Formats: sequence, C-alpha cells, structure tokens
Amino acid sequence: MSNRRSGDNVIRCSFCGSSAQEANSMVAGPDVYICDRCIHEASGIVKGEGGGTYRAGPTGDAVRTTPMAPHEIKAALDEYVIGQDAAKKAMSVAVYNHFKRIDADQYVHDYKDVELEKSNILLIGPTGTGKTLLARTLARILDVPFSISDATALTEAGYVGEDVESILSNLLRSCDFDVTEAQRGIIYIDEIDKIARKSENASITRDVSGEGVQQALLKLLEGTEAGVPPKGGRKHPEQSLVSVDTRNILFICGGAFDGLGEIVQRRLSKSTLGFRSDRTDDRRLDKDDPAIFGHVEPDDLLRFGLIPELVGRLPVTTSLSTLTDEEMKRILTEPKNALIKQYQKLFAMDGIDLSFEPEALQAVVEQARGLGTGARGLRSVMEGIMLDVMFEVHRMQGVGAVRITESTIREGSGPMYDERKASA
Ligand code: ADP
Repeated sequence: MSNRRSGDNVIRCSFCGSSAQEANSMVAGPDVYICDRCIHEASGIVKGEGGGTYRAGPTGDAVRTTPMAPHEIKAALDEYVIGQDAAKKAMSVAVYNHFKRIDADQYVHDYKDVELEKSNILLIGPTGTGKTLLARTLARILDVPFSISDATALTEAGYVGEDVESILSNLLRSCDFDVTEAQRGIIYIDEIDKIARKSENASITRDVSGEGVQQALLKLLEGTEAGVPPKGGRKHPEQSLVSVDTRNILFICGGAFDGLGEIVQRRLSKSTLGFRSDRTDDRRLDKDDPAIFGHVEPDDLLRFGLIPELVGRLPVTTSLSTLTDEEMKRILTEPKNALIKQYQKLFAMDGIDLSFEPEALQAVVEQARGLGTGARGLRSVMEGIMLDVMFEVHRMQGVGAVRITESTIREGSGPMYDERKASA
C-alpha cells in the first residue's frame, strides 16, 4: 500500500488519499498512514454501524454522506429485534429509499420529472410482536429524532382531544425543539387500526372520531408545512406556532388490525382465478393464521375501514407474525439489552453469577404467553419472579451464584444458591 501518490511527496492517508493538510490528524504505521475520518469510519464498521462514505461535518466530526444500505440497516435491526425478517427487510428498503429520496438531486440528473413517493410504512401485527421496537430501533440506528403518538388520542379539529399536529409537538420535544432535526425524524403512530371507520355496513351514518382523524392525518403524512403548538394540545389563537415541514419525516403506522384476517381470508377463498400454483394453499389459510397478514392488499384495508387516501399514503405495508416459543426465548437472552442480560449485570455488580436453566426459560415463555400481550408479557413474568429472588439473595450471606430452575418459575420455589468461593 503506498502512502504517497506518484509524483508528489505529500503524506497521504493510505485509505482515502487525503493529504495530511486535508485531514485533522494522521496516524502513522510502518509505511502507512490513516486519517482521522477513516479511523472514525473503521471504528463504526467494527461497532457494527456499517460502512459508508464520510465527509467532515461542521464541527470536524465525520458525517455520513451515503445512506446505510438495506442489508446494513437490517443487520443493525437484528441486534435488537428477534425474528420478523419480512418486516425488517421491507423497512430497511423503505428507509433506504426514503433517504435517497431526500437527497434525490444529488444522485441522478435524469428522471427530473419523476417524483419519488414518500415511503411511509404500515406495520400490521398482533400486540407485543415488536412493531414499536422496530420503529424505535430504526430511529436509533439512523440517529434521528423519534416519537410515538397514539392515534386514539387524536380527534379532528373542533372535538375534545388532541389535534393531529400534537404528533409533531411530541417529535419536537424529543429533540429539544430543534426544528431542522425534527424535520428528518421518524414518527410512530400506534393503534392506527382504532381510527378505522366502523364496519362497512354499520348503521351509524357518520363516524366523526375515525374518519375525521384519518382525513386530518393525510396532509401530515404526505408532506406539508404545519403550524405546531410547541407544547402540544389544542391550538390557541394567542399561542405562537412553530412551522414544521413534514415532507422528509418518515411516518410508521402500526396496529393489530383485529378482524383483518377474516377479510383477507374471505377474499382469498373467493378468488377463483389464480395464476400462481400456490394460490390454492393461500385459499386454505385460516383467518387466525398469522401468515394471512402476508396477503393483505389495499382493498382489504379499505374494507377494514381505512380511507383510500390514507392507504395511498402508506405505500409500504408489511406484517409481523406471532412470536414462536423459540423466538420468545431468544428475546429473553439475545438482544443487546435482553432482559436476562440486564438482570445478570445487576447481580454481577454484587459479585453474583446469575443463570437460568433452559427449562426455566421455557416456563417463563409459557407464563408470558398466558398474558396475551406477546413479548411484552416476558417482562412482567420476569419481574414477578426476580423481585423475590433479589429480595432474598441480599438477606443471605456469601452467595456466589444463583441458578433459576423450572420450579422457581412454575412453583415459586427458591432458586439454587452456590456459596461464594473463598478467594485464594
Ligand atoms: P407492539 O408490537 O405492540 O408495538 P412492542 O414493540 O412495544 O410491541 O414490544 C413490547 C416489548 O416486547 C418490547 O419493548 C420488547 O422488549 C419486546 N419485544 C417484542 N417483540 C420483540 C422482538 N421481535 N424482538 C425483541 N423484543 C421484542
């Protein structure tokens, strides 16, 4: 590897070719050099943040100039979210395209008249399967502001409740009211299914709560300059509003969509014309089979009660499936901040080694499933068990190791304790 270009005697970074003058600092090895920016990029790759091209930012920090590639985004999501591969893939591509769209002029000069659509995302899946976690993790790995709002709290203007602009107040609050930052953030709107129009043939003539809010959301999702009350809540005439441009804000909407399976199943079973050989299998899918959400089409969402304009503004639809026992066990142990890792850290601070027998993990999963809240139930089950264990262990002297067994979980019997080994 040469650190000097032919014909010049300048010391250059062996990786990017920057001269010593262009770089803030340069580290020398035996006949090689590396500049501060390449060190930053390399350390990002080692930490799993993926590769990319960097330029010096206003404060001398390296700023990424190319978006993370879809496979890099997915790999980063894998560190925190177990399973849900289809959703992760769809989201990674959508987010990649979202950032490309923001900087479209930088990439292509042809296709001037082609306007790239915003890739807002709709996540469909049972409660506690990782919808919010996916959206939150995405914002974290992309290092953009993130907020969560609940669609059920919103009402159309003129009714008691929050204006849709309060969604933007939440985002502003998450980044200390930095409007420029907020304008490239991610907003997760939970329970979007709860603002569906009531059933197609309901006798009520007008459904103010649902359809009105859907209408109100359209402009935000598409991209508009919105006047936002900084403190949230209702707009008051005397209150000064902050102007937020939502064109580059990525909206992710999520919901359990109870009953949608039935609508999809009805359509699939009716469809007689099929060009794909697997169509017959699709027709046999049960309405409760999680795989049914993989067949959702815009028409099904309309039937469910979303208005066509809203469906049109959520072009990326993907589904999350009910977590299997194996996945639930992995959630307990594998993610970077897995529950069991957290408890192990707490115990390690007291010099105690905490372990779980595999049968104990299975028992935790079964109890959590009984709560019907997906992986969310894991935390409540674990907290209930670990509370007693943590209370007791500190009453005892000289405990070096605690092993949680199946009967600790199923029968509430005490865990196995090992004495602390006398230090040599
Ligand atoms: P929802 O689908 O209802 O939005 P959440 O994403 O809020 O569910 O999940 C609740 C909690 O359950 C999360 O904070 C996380 O601890 C855990 N969890 C759910 N799904 C997963 C998953 N696929 N991988 C890892 N943890 C998960």
